[in-house]
Amino acid sequence: MNGRAAISADVRTTCPYCGVGCGVRANVIAGERQRVAIKGDTAHPANRGALCSKGTALAETLGLEGRLLEPMIDQQTVSWDQALNCVATGFGRLIEQHGPESVAFYVSGQLLTEDYYVANKLMKGFIGTANIDTNSRLCMASAVAAHKRAFGEDLVPLSYEDLELADLIVLVGSNTAWCHPVLYQRIIKAKEQRPSMRIVVIDPRFTPTCGSADLHLPVRAGTDVWLYNGLLAWLLQQGLADRQFVDAHTSGLEAAQLVVENTAGDVEAVAKRCGLEPAAVLQFYEWFGRTPKTITAFSQGVNQSSCGTDKANSIINVHLLTGRIGQPGMGPFSITGQPNAMGGREVGGLANTLAAHMDLENPVHRQRVQKFWQSPRIAERPGLKAVELFEAVHAGHVKGLWIMGSNPVVSMPDADRVREALRRCELLVVSDCMADTDTTRLAQVRLPASAWGEKSGTVTNSDRHISRQRAFLAAPGAARPDWWIVCQVARHMGFGQGFAFRGPADIFAEHAALSGTHNEGERVFNLSGLAHLSTEEYENLEPLPWPVREDTPAGTARLFAGGRFAFSDGRGRFVPTRPRAPSHERDEEYPLVLNTGRIRDQWHTMTRSGQSASLSAHLPEPFVDLHPQDALSFGLRGGELVRVATRWGQMVGRLRTSGELRRGAIFVPMHWNSRFASDARVGALVNPVVDPHSGEPEFKHTPARVEPFVVAWHGFALTRGILNVNAVSWWARAQGQEFQRYELAGRQVPGDWSAVTRKMLGVTAPDADWIDYSDPLGGVYRGAWLKRDRVEALLFVSPRADLPSRAWLAELFAKEQLTNRDRAYLLSGQPAHPEADAGSTVCSCFGVGRKVIERAIAGGCRDTQQLGARLKAGTNCGSCIPELRALLMQGQ
Ligand code: SF4
Repeated sequence: MNGRAAISADVRTTCPYCGVGCGVRANVIAGERQRVAIKGDTAHPANRGALCSKGTALAETLGLEGRLLEPMIDQQTVSWDQALNCVATGFGRLIEQHGPESVAFYVSGQLLTEDYYVANKLMKGFIGTANIDTNSRLCMASAVAAHKRAFGEDLVPLSYEDLELADLIVLVGSNTAWCHPVLYQRIIKAKEQRPSMRIVVIDPRFTPTCGSADLHLPVRAGTDVWLYNGLLAWLLQQGLADRQFVDAHTSGLEAAQLVVENTAGDVEAVAKRCGLEPAAVLQFYEWFGRTPKTITAFSQGVNQSSCGTDKANSIINVHLLTGRIGQPGMGPFSITGQPNAMGGREVGGLANTLAAHMDLENPVHRQRVQKFWQSPRIAERPGLKAVELFEAVHAGHVKGLWIMGSNPVVSMPDADRVREALRRCELLVVSDCMADTDTTRLAQVRLPASAWGEKSGTVTNSDRHISRQRAFLAAPGAARPDWWIVCQVARHMGFGQGFAFRGPADIFAEHAALSGTHNEGERVFNLSGLAHLSTEEYENLEPLPWPVREDTPAGTARLFAGGRFAFSDGRGRFVPTRPRAPSHERDEEYPLVLNTGRIRDQWHTMTRSGQSASLSAHLPEPFVDLHPQDALSFGLRGGELVRVATRWGQMVGRLRTSGELRRGAIFVPMHWNSRFASDARVGALVNPVVDPHSGEPEFKHTPARVEPFVVAWHGFALTRGILNVNAVSWWARAQGQEFQRYELAGRQVPGDWSAVTRKMLGVTAPDADWIDYSDPLGGVYRGAWLKRDRVEALLFVSPRADLPSRAWLAELFAKEQLTNRDRAYLLSGQPAHPEADAGSTVCSCFGVGRKVIERAIAGGCRDTQQLGARLKAGTNCGSCIPELRALLMQGQ
């Protein structure tokens, strides 16, 4: 961070992580050690000053380590002009030889709306194909398809405030406590103030979100449509439909009802199919049926399925039936994963959509957009959706691909095949802020993009609020904003006229103007009220929810208030949702079901959040969660390494038996990439089957098996430098405060551990201050390398996985000099006083460890308030409160 040029001292911007879209204040504090102070923006309507652990740690990700700072072609640094020429002529040549369908863009929900807009314009309007898709395909495309089927347009009806007005909140397939923590805290605070408010969680896992739930339905994976069809049938039987609303504002109930009557059965049958207790199902149905102010918030557990669109429509159906939509505190609420998945939807960043919510299949819309853009052509049919796109690269149909701000070699399903596809790609261009990712490694051309804090534009969060992201640091090296890179490539391709933007304000104005073109209420998405902002007004734009028309300059918090939907007849549509099993059921060879998802303190493929020591302390290595009895039946013990295998790939992680899972299920986090672990890219294991309507892959349901990963030794190293891991069979790395933490395992026991350790650490001086302990018969080795009594590196090895806690040893890296007592206890791995060992981190904001919390509970703390008062744990972002509650339960 030191020495980076600041362009503004105190800036209001937006968090770049999840779809909650929290407002952030970034304050660049000059001085000998320049730093950026991050806090929540109290004026932002999404978070009102709160931030979760990821937002709080944003300043830790602003360093230049690992950044891509110059354009590169085949590992050689080149000028921007050379790089732009190379990309433009490369794409131009492929288009000339093989047609526009031979090239594609794969973009990202991390891009700002302005970046997204120009990328979409270049591909669909000037190159002339719709081969532009986005990693948002992987998280919310099913919600988009469901909205279009039910509402006539991709519209999220509610605002976050509705969550505080609801009497019943149903969270479906959403670990809100970890994945949208600030939203979860808003819900919990509302419940504390109004205890009559109920929370139901529908999720196969007992996640931290369930800790505050009045009811948890651990539904069998993939059976949500049965549950919701059952609810529709039950509501009809009980006479709880809002007939007036249905008659006045909807159509299609009969067809939906017919499917439900033929497939749902009674509560008993539903419960059996979903693997639930009938009484619990009935309780949920009763609460839903008798609570007008009900919100159903759904997320990836619904969307990431081969029937994700039907799942979402089955949820929307019950809201239409009861008229629970368009009024305060009610409605179906899709919570998006990424900071600007919504912005991407607005500009048409998906391969099957057109800009400004117009339809690619509609010739009038196509002509309208082409005329507005004054473009030489317009894509005439939908392009390739993410999974199809990489398959087309593999097959050689797509020969030129530009990936912007995404890491598909980690995040895509069947990710090894994606890697193979990219290796085959004739021209692979990657623009990214990081130099070395699993994807940039394969690129012929790497273009340095500006990172968060350096770029300006807008993002749209889950409740349609458009917020500004503002730069507070100058871009380092030759890094440039994505919109600039795209416009420059367009100019080099001869399309300069359509891309003569001076900055993001110009682009936003064009985007807003397009949304208002031929839009007298025809499309709900409308930013015409923002089309004439001056640059200064754009700079000072306050968060506001679209649509923003001339007559609604402050935006629109809630949609469908008058029961009018976006179809030309104004009616919402019931969609018949015929339940079906996931595409691949488990079998004898693969008897378990793999589910993937997020953890609290990491983001996507860890390229940024993996740099934060406080975030990496929470769950520092890839893990595999399994039901304790399943672990027992497969002969596996918690804490040991296991291999998970599917028909598509395999990974290795540390076994946990958290008790969160149903029998037969496996959970593996989605984050680890090859820079942080040798063998933990879970995307490689995921079935690439997709939902037929949305093209979204089935990340939540891949048949899998688990087996021991047999090794001869386990170990860990803490080191100020990088460890040479060539000789180990498995490793995982986590960033610490002034050190790297490595978890290690090997199949071969070296003859001389001391020599091997020195080699791994790169210690060449024969007189290095080296202390070690070796028990060759017991297979134990412990070594420490010191420099002037300062610890440089430690390595602990044992035949068993139960090595000493890393917490106290890690703290020694903060000391300039070890005391004699530290030195004496160093190789024991434990401090002289057990109280000095904090244990693994639970509260990332204040670095409070599990053992400290357990001691406080043993010492009399009875609730989270008392823990907060004594330790500060849980008093900043609140993301750890569910874990504090779990520890309190264990301690009672
Ligand atoms: Fe960022 Fe956390 Fe807010 Fe999401 S909830 S936007 S990750 S601070």
